[in-house]
Amino acid sequence: MRGSADRQEILACSLDWVSKGNVDNYMSLHRRDKNINELKTYFNTVIDWASGVFTDVESEMCGLEWGDFYEKYHKQAYNPKNVSNEVKKLYGDPYIRNSRGIFEYILGGSTQTNLLDIRVFDEATKRSVYAKQTKEGEGKGISNCPLCAIGHDANKAKIWKLNEMDADHVSAWSKGGATDTKNCQMLCKTHNRAKGNR
Ligand SMILES: [Zn+2]
Repeated sequence: MRGSADRQEILACSLDWVSKGNVDNYMSLHRRDKNINELKTYFNTVIDWASGVFTDVESEMCGLEWGDFYEKYHKQAYNPKNVSNEVKKLYGDPYIRNSRGIFEYILGGSTQTNLLDIRVFDEATKRSVYAKQTKEGEGKGISNCPLCAIGHDANKAKIWKLNEMDADHVSAWSKGGATDTKNCQMLCKTHNRAKGNR
């Protein structure tokens, strides 16, 4: 599927999007529409836009909400060459579990990492980091959540249980941080949520 843009392919994907996968049904429902020309124009506008931004066609592009993407993002300027490079880079990234999310991620300015479902730390890594932090915290009389430990509230010295904590990338994936032990810290759930998707 990779290579130069194939307009037919994008058209098929777009029909899939607009009809929610049932093209025949959609066409018969809209057979009598007075505005069928408007609809066609709209299709073409969306398709032209999508194929202008993404010059390589990937199979995962099918069935995405291109109409919604168009509404949200068509006023922004994209450099197709940069977009193409970023698509290739993200496709090669082993930490990305949802490659279908790559397109909206790029359209949105490459900030919503939740769209990519970044690979998380495995249980063994979490347990060993938890054990290390808890031992340190107990030794120093401070919380095993490093962010609670530097805070000034009642949780300053709280030792959280493993199931009360979540694994966090010390250096964010989006800034090149890896999903390995060295880049893992356990945070209490509140602090992990506060840090959010970076
Ligand atoms: Zn905390």
